[in-house]
Amino acid sequence: MTTDSVWRGGSIGDHTHAVLAPNPGPMTLDGTNTWVLHTPGDDTAVVVDPGPLDEGHLQAVLAYVEQLGARVGLTLITHWHHDHTESLGRWAELVDVPVRGGGHGDAFADDERIVLGLLQIRVIATPGHTADSVSFHLPDADVLVTGDTVLGRGTTVVAHPDGALGPYLASLDKLHAIAAQRPTALAPAHGPTHADAGAVIASYKKHRLERLDQVRAALAAGDADATDVAQAIVERVYAAVPREVWPAAKLSVQAQLEYLRG
Ligand SMILES: [Zn+2]
Repeated sequence: MTTDSVWRGGSIGDHTHAVLAPNPGPMTLDGTNTWVLHTPGDDTAVVVDPGPLDEGHLQAVLAYVEQLGARVGLTLITHWHHDHTESLGRWAELVDVPVRGGGHGDAFADDERIVLGLLQIRVIATPGHTADSVSFHLPDADVLVTGDTVLGRGTTVVAHPDGALGPYLASLDKLHAIAAQRPTALAPAHGPTHADAGAVIASYKKHRLERLDQVRAALAAGDADATDVAQAIVERVYAAVPREVWPAAKLSVQAQLEYLRG
């Protein structure tokens, strides 16, 4: 694991390359990874999550595609959050191609196959971080593009009430089943890549179940009687994480409380 290394974008094999956007922060880690998907020799490429509104970033993505000898043929969005979609208006001025995902264009069907030129993409519905979250599997490259469902570092927020824990756990199982079939690399929307997506996904599941146990214990220890139950649990269970991410942690705690209520 390269958990603590600095991430500046880069390639996985010859089909997938991340151009890192300059929007680092407590929630975006090093910034948003805009993934360029392309089969060597093909004249079209797919861009996933153009990212924040930053002209230099968009131009860097276009320059990378041009360097491949390709043009953008399709834009895909992993989910509606602004750090993935803020630039879409400007992007549409630069690149006049269909956009799908995050509430734009034709809705995805689970397990849908998208074929563009030589590139094959399988859409995996992975709700949980948000209701609309999807991941993309590239069977010819053995890569999973996971958006914010699985990150390259740390853990993701289950953004209650749009996100929900039951679907999130099921989405992790779905992704793990794909990665268990063949060695598959992880291409997350934030943070570094990993050669073994299956191992990262398994650790995400383990972490989620551990947090659930901690929330159960916190409720039993008296937090169930607090005026603001979720806040009391954040202060107990997430005491070690920086305060700037407590609001996000609180969303995850609310998702966990809802899950425990069944
Ligand atoms: Zn997000």
